[in-house]
Amino acid sequence: MSRKTSGTLLTGFILSAIFFVLLPLGAARGASYCERLYDSAKRDYYSLLKSDRKQKFHDSWEKVIEKFSTIYEKYPTCSRSPDALFNVGVLYRKLYHRSWIGADLDRALGTFLKLQSRFPSNRLADDALLNAAQVQEEKGRKGDAYRTYAKLVKAYPEGDMASRAKKRLNQLASFAPKPPVSKTRTRAKAKTRPGRTVNITDVKHWSNPEYTRVVVYATDKLNYEEHRLKGDPRTGKPPRLYIDLNNARIPSALSSPISIKDGLLLRARLGQYNPDTVRLVLDIDSMGDDRVFTMENPSRLVVDVFGRDAGSSSSKAGRPGKGAGAPLPLAKQLGLRVKTIVLDPGHGGKDPGAVGRGGLKEKDVTLAIAKLLKPMLEAKGFRVLMTRDKDVYVSLDERTAFANSHLADLFVSIHTNASRNRRARGVETYFLGVAMDRDSSETALLENAITQQTLADLEKILLDLTRTSNLKQSSMLAESVQENLFHGLSKRNRLVKDHGVKQASFYVLIGAQMPAILVETSFISHPTEERLLRDPSYLKLVSSSILRGILDYVDGLATATDGNSHT
Ligand SMILES: [Zn+2]
Repeated sequence: MSRKTSGTLLTGFILSAIFFVLLPLGAARGASYCERLYDSAKRDYYSLLKSDRKQKFHDSWEKVIEKFSTIYEKYPTCSRSPDALFNVGVLYRKLYHRSWIGADLDRALGTFLKLQSRFPSNRLADDALLNAAQVQEEKGRKGDAYRTYAKLVKAYPEGDMASRAKKRLNQLASFAPKPPVSKTRTRAKAKTRPGRTVNITDVKHWSNPEYTRVVVYATDKLNYEEHRLKGDPRTGKPPRLYIDLNNARIPSALSSPISIKDGLLLRARLGQYNPDTVRLVLDIDSMGDDRVFTMENPSRLVVDVFGRDAGSSSSKAGRPGKGAGAPLPLAKQLGLRVKTIVLDPGHGGKDPGAVGRGGLKEKDVTLAIAKLLKPMLEAKGFRVLMTRDKDVYVSLDERTAFANSHLADLFVSIHTNASRNRRARGVETYFLGVAMDRDSSETALLENAITQQTLADLEKILLDLTRTSNLKQSSMLAESVQENLFHGLSKRNRLVKDHGVKQASFYVLIGAQMPAILVETSFISHPTEERLLRDPSYLKLVSSSILRGILDYVDGLATATDGNSHT
């Protein structure tokens, strides 16, 4: 399913769910107090849906949610209570698709499950279960989702949601809970088990005290389930996070434990747990949040583990609409300046990036720009690190992990653009988000080196990964760089076009723990711009313009913090 259709389906579903609940109430009746409350909440809901401006603030959502919640809490026996609860769930789910705050999705899930358990015979009970299962899928908890769909089919076989649940059960068949079997039976079953086996080819990790990334590479798409075990102080066993990779095999050479000991994780162990399952066990020293997801091309499982402080501070600072100013990254809250900047010259080695008609390769241009920009930034007192300083291949996993591991304060990925339309020219700057237009998603496809299908998967992951505090800062950095780059380049490149700041799901920006942008400096596919990109003085202009953009952004931060300290 393409990104577009899935989006439309989801919206369509949510909208129909809303009208299902709201429309029959249009006619005024001799209403009880509870019904009047419900009508009032409903009016607020409509006005929220109509106002794009209101939808931008977490608070406006919470106010409507609060109104519906009150109905259920104060008048649980009122006939509107199940409807109110259902709307709370739908609102949290919609809110999550704006806020990207995992807690909002958790609340949606909790609400739907509560509705079904408190009002099992209400007409919305099966709708609530279907929603709960979909949310579990969104959270990557496929096993849980399977059980919820199964519960729906069993409890409401005649309901209008049963056929949809059955369809998902078929698609999620590999996540069906396995009946407990003896070892010999498992082995016998494995021999005749149909379907492909995925081979594990490599495992890598990047780490520091605040952040660890473990990546398991495989020959094909991985199916996984995530579990957590509490530690046992009596036996001295540390808490563990373990991930089962289904239908997978691992060569014994990769099975030895990897010592990490970075303060977050003690070690990672990867091994053949049973003939069908490879288990990745992470022994935890002390960690906060974690994110597990799979990516394609190459197929891999990525586990990001964050430190306790990193997790809690960003979720607090990331709450939009709370507090006076825009949320600042931790370094800024502590009054520290931007110190470390990671420059990421796009592509390299076996990956040339886009190639111009004249044969100029993106990988060479991006490296040249980064090499010019590095000393300029250093002269201003920044510590500058590069993800590569020669013509070598660096995976996208490694680039972000590099920035996180070095506790960078800013991440700037440098690229040149390309388009099938050879007249396309100009400058655009991206920060992480779901692409809002076709051109942006095409650029994302280009830079991620992935298919449309994977992009859809990526955007699902993205919803869970994005940390809102960095988004706000990333957009400000992007604005500043874009503006300076456009004005800087128009001196040499009269017809340069300002494509502005855009959002798209660039894998290289996902999981970055700092404001992160991707700059498309010019179009290598445009004959004139390709010629300019060969000219060292033009590249110098690109670099000095990006420099000015970064400096403006940093100055803006300094002013913002000074301002706060005076009030
Ligand atoms: Zn590129």
